[in-house]
Amino acid sequence: TPYTVQVGRDCTDIFIAQLADRYAGKTFAVITDDHVNALYGDRFVAQMQRAGLTCCKFVFPHGETHKSLATVQQICEFCHQNQLTRSDMMLALGGGIVGDIAGFAAAMYLRGIAYVQVPTTLLAQIDSSVGGKTAANLPQGKNLIGCFWQPVAVLCDTAFLDTLPEAYFADGIGEAVKYGAIWDRDLFLQMQGGFRDHLEEIVARCVAIKAEVVRQDEFDTGVRMLLNFGHTMGHAIERHSNFAVSHGKAVAMGMVMMAAACVAGGQCPPDVLHQLCRCLQKNKLATHYSAPVADLLPAAMGDKKRDGSTISIVQIAEIGRCVITKLALDDFKAFLLAAQPLLD
Ligand code: NAD
Ligand code: ZN
Repeated sequence: TPYTVQVGRDCTDIFIAQLADRYAGKTFAVITDDHVNALYGDRFVAQMQRAGLTCCKFVFPHGETHKSLATVQQICEFCHQNQLTRSDMMLALGGGIVGDIAGFAAAMYLRGIAYVQVPTTLLAQIDSSVGGKTAANLPQGKNLIGCFWQPVAVLCDTAFLDTLPEAYFADGIGEAVKYGAIWDRDLFLQMQGGFRDHLEEIVARCVAIKAEVVRQDEFDTGVRMLLNFGHTMGHAIERHSNFAVSHGKAVAMGMVMMAAACVAGGQCPPDVLHQLCRCLQKNKLATHYSAPVADLLPAAMGDKKRDGSTISIVQIAEIGRCVITKLALDDFKAFLLAAQPLLD
C-alpha cells in the first residue's frame, strides 16, 4: 500500500507525532461515534492538540441506522462550518461504521479530501480500515452507496481493544480466521492456539494480508474476491436471522458451510472442515446455524457476487489456500445442498 499502516500496542503517541510532522498546519476534523467519544474522544483530541495539530470533533450516535446519507451531510456541513479546505483532513476514530461513513464523507467533501483511519474495533483494524471501501446504508439495504477512497494513513493501536465488548471482539475473530483460511496456514495454526496472547502479531499479519490482497486488486474484480470466503452464506445467515447473528459470527458459520460443501464435492479433504471447526470453537465461535442450508439458498442467491445466471464463490482447497469458482445457479444449489449431511 502507498500509505502507512502502523500496528502495535500503545503506538498512538508516535503515530500522532508523525501526523504532526507530515501534516503541520492542516486542520483535522475528527469523526467519531458517541461510545468511542465517551471512552477516547477528548483524550485523543488533546493528544493531537499537544502535538500542535488543529482539530475539531464531530460526534454522531452509534449504530447502523446512523450510517446514512444524513450523517454524511452533517459531517460535510460540520467541515464547512469549521472552514476546512481541500488541503485539510478528516480522521475517523471508531469502528467500521465510523470508518465507512467518515471515509465516504471525506471522498465527497469538496470532491475529496485526505483522511486518516484510526480503527478501534478488531474488525475495523483487520478489515474495514484497510482497502479503501467507503459506504453508507440506504433504507433498502446495507452499503448500497459508497466509493473507493483510500486513507493516507492507518493506525491500529491494539490498546483500544481493551474496552471492546466480547461480542464485537468475536466478530473480528471470525474475519481473522478467514485470513488464515484463505492465505496463511501458519497464522491459522497460531489462532488455533487462541487469540489474546498474540493479539498484536495477529492483527499485524491480518492487516498485511488485507493490504497485499488489495494491492493486487484494488477495485475488487479478481483476487480480492477471496476475502468473501464464507460471506455468501454468511450474508444469507445474517438476513435469515433478521440480523440477530452478527456479521463475523455469520461469516464463521458460512465458512463452515462452504468447507462442508467442498468436502462433499471432493474439493478438499475432510480434515480441512475439522480444523476450521476446531479453530472457531477454540475461539468460542459457533460453527452451526439453526436452519438447514436449503432455507438459506434464496437469500444466498441474492448475493452481490451474483452475475446474471452465475454466481462466484470461494471454495477452500486446503487451510491457507482458497480458489474462486463461477457456478451456474443450479450447480451452486446442488453444491451447497450436498453439505447438509456433514452439518447435521
Ligand atoms: P461498529 O463501528 O458499530 O462498532 C461496534 C460497537 O463498538 C459500536 O457501538 C461502537 O461505538 C463500539 N466501539 C468501537 N470501538 C470501541 C472500543 N474500543 N471500546 C468499546 N466500544 C467500542 O462496528 P464494527 O464491527 O467495527 O464495523 C461494522 C461496520 O463495518 C459495518 O457497517 C460494515 O458494513 C463495515 N465494514 C466495512 C468494510 C470495508 O471494507 N469498508 C469491511 C467490513 C465491514
Ligand atoms: Zn466480512
